[in-house]
Amino acid sequence: MEKSIEARFHLKPSQRQGLAKLGLITLRDLLYHFPARYERPAPEKMINELRDGETATVYGRVLKTKISRAFRKKIPLAEVVIEDAAGRIKAVWFHQAYLAKKIHEGEWVKLSGKVSARGGQLYFANPAFQPAAEAPVFQTADTSAASSLTPIYPETRGLSSVWFEHAIKQLLTDDIMGHLSELLPPALGQKYRLPTLKEALALIHQPRTEKEAAAARKRFAFEEIFFIQLERLLSKLEYEKSGARRIVTADATLAEFLARLPFAPTAAQRRAIKQILADLDQDQPMMRLLEGDVGSGKTAVAAAAAYAAVRAGFEAALMTPTEILARQHFESLIANFANDNINVGLITSSECRKFPSKVSPREHTHISRPQLLKWVANGEIPVVVGTHSLIQKTVRFKNLALAIIDEQHRFGVRQRAALVKKGPPAGGRAPHLLSLTATPIPRTLALTAYGDLDLTLLDELPPGRQPIITEIVTEKKRHEAYRKIKKELGLGRQAFVICPRIDLPDPAKALALYAKSAKQEARRLQEKIFPNFTVGLLHSKLPAREKEKVMTNFITGEIKILVATSVVEVGVNVPNATVIVIEGAERFGLAQLHQLRGRVWRSSYQPYCFLFTDAVSGRAVERLKAVQTAKNGFELAELDLKLRGAGSLAGAKQWGLSDLGMEALQNLKMVEAARAEAQTLLQADPTLDNYPLIKTRLAALTTTERQIHFE
Ligand code: ADP
Ligand code: MG
Repeated sequence: MEKSIEARFHLKPSQRQGLAKLGLITLRDLLYHFPARYERPAPEKMINELRDGETATVYGRVLKTKISRAFRKKIPLAEVVIEDAAGRIKAVWFHQAYLAKKIHEGEWVKLSGKVSARGGQLYFANPAFQPAAEAPVFQTADTSAASSLTPIYPETRGLSSVWFEHAIKQLLTDDIMGHLSELLPPALGQKYRLPTLKEALALIHQPRTEKEAAAARKRFAFEEIFFIQLERLLSKLEYEKSGARRIVTADATLAEFLARLPFAPTAAQRRAIKQILADLDQDQPMMRLLEGDVGSGKTAVAAAAAYAAVRAGFEAALMTPTEILARQHFESLIANFANDNINVGLITSSECRKFPSKVSPREHTHISRPQLLKWVANGEIPVVVGTHSLIQKTVRFKNLALAIIDEQHRFGVRQRAALVKKGPPAGGRAPHLLSLTATPIPRTLALTAYGDLDLTLLDELPPGRQPIITEIVTEKKRHEAYRKIKKELGLGRQAFVICPRIDLPDPAKALALYAKSAKQEARRLQEKIFPNFTVGLLHSKLPAREKEKVMTNFITGEIKILVATSVVEVGVNVPNATVIVIEGAERFGLAQLHQLRGRVWRSSYQPYCFLFTDAVSGRAVERLKAVQTAKNGFELAELDLKLRGAGSLAGAKQWGLSDLGMEALQNLKMVEAARAEAQTLLQADPTLDNYPLIKTRLAALTTTERQIHFE
């Protein structure tokens, strides 16, 4: 099974390249290259029964073949005339003149394709062609014979669907199939009525009906989710083995912290803090995901956890994906910790800071990196905020007991692991882990992608947030919307404008892909629409320093209108920005629109969201209307999954799921079952000693790292 495809099949260089491109190396890989869909064979007809526009299959004897040219002699083509007992028809193949040499007069062929008409004459254009022994005996009227479906495989240059069909057909009849071992415990297959591995492979590659294919797909989807769950749960077990330091927090300490917050925490925040403090009080490391809508106040919850760790005499580290966010958290932690004279540090690739500074107990200053790292290693700076810089080798902690990761969906599993390894030297106890994310994802995906984390939901927004006024704006109403925006800007507020593209599209594709580009739109808005307000431009291709500068200018209010692409991190807190315009809104996922909209939901000012769209009716408008009425991001994420399928989940591929695994996300019951079964299995046999095959397979899987990461 692990034998290479090259060793089994004679391959042309182009085919070798194609396989490499698809990442197919072993025979197992080839067997797991599943059809994307199936085609029902065209019904078999006699030539005199054919009608213009239909798709059909005919058998006939070749009367004559010819190579010629069409369209002012520009396009070479092969022409063949065939005849059956009832009539004659011509077939033409454009750009494939060589076919005329492969088809010989007097031979029998089977043609299958669409029938067209020209000047009253019917003909086949580019039909599929196969040599046939001779016309089979078939009934002309009834074509519902139980013929099997044709699998259509994902192709690449050099490898056609037909190549895959033939190669896999050979494998399926090979004796290597005897070496194929079942991966799922047999009890599971019976319990969920899943076909065995061998059956499922035959059914998925050569189904007679869609139902057979579906049964096989279900089995492989289950298998995939089951293995992901095993992998996640195992890494959790592994992590928990190391043990953790108990962080005991007196009620009075928590009360002190909460009393100093500039606001009263919401009930959801209180619940989350309580749950986290209870976890920290264990000698097993916490592994928890705090998931809350944008603006739900995750920072204060994280700060409370950090405060508990520090007051207990340990250190806490907070990692963020961007420098702007790191600096923002640094400032807010200073506000949380200032009263207790707790040192707070900041480490990014461009700066190191410490609070309080020597000069003033209320200020922070830049200090040299070596100095800061020394203090951190000594335990003199018990709270450190930073970007990826935090996981560099040079950063050492004395007693790191809590690692917090903000916007955790922006990090890979490996980076997360690197931060928690900053705990004590090997063999010591691991830090507690708290991950924060605002990405509302459907429950199935959360269970799969974050299978190793316990979940806390912050399902309540701070009071006083005014509901965002969300308007769907068609082209006709654009200027009316601009008038409203001008009014807000006049009151001193700021605005985001989100465009689907950075640059103008390639002119050749411009018509099909027309979408506002950020660059062009920034210029247009500055010159034509908002000449009295400064417009800034932010997109992913700007150099890092330039990005920082633009963002800083927006935060300080120098820039009033920020034109940006959606990939750009706008996750910072700019409470004065109360207007967001989203161009080409129909192109975004619902959950994504909600995320973007959350940018202006950070103050008690009235926020506005303008969804600009070309669509005036139909599904697109229905979807946008859901954004108007939805209560939260989770609701929208579920709706997205239902309306657009798993493929629409922002960057969902990056969770390491195959197309089939993504399909499984539609099926909550299956995901829950796979998870429960993985749990049961590991409880009974945590080292998998009774399941050597599963163990081997998992080892192979984990070498190809699953990155949990998306834009
Ligand atoms: P997110 O969950 O998106 O990270 P933040 O923690 O940045 O949200 O909080 C968003 C804003 O709401 C901040 O300005 C914060 O000070 C404020 N905030 C947080 N909790 C509350 C609360 N309970 N009451 C009022 N404002 C709050
Ligand atoms: Mg946040």
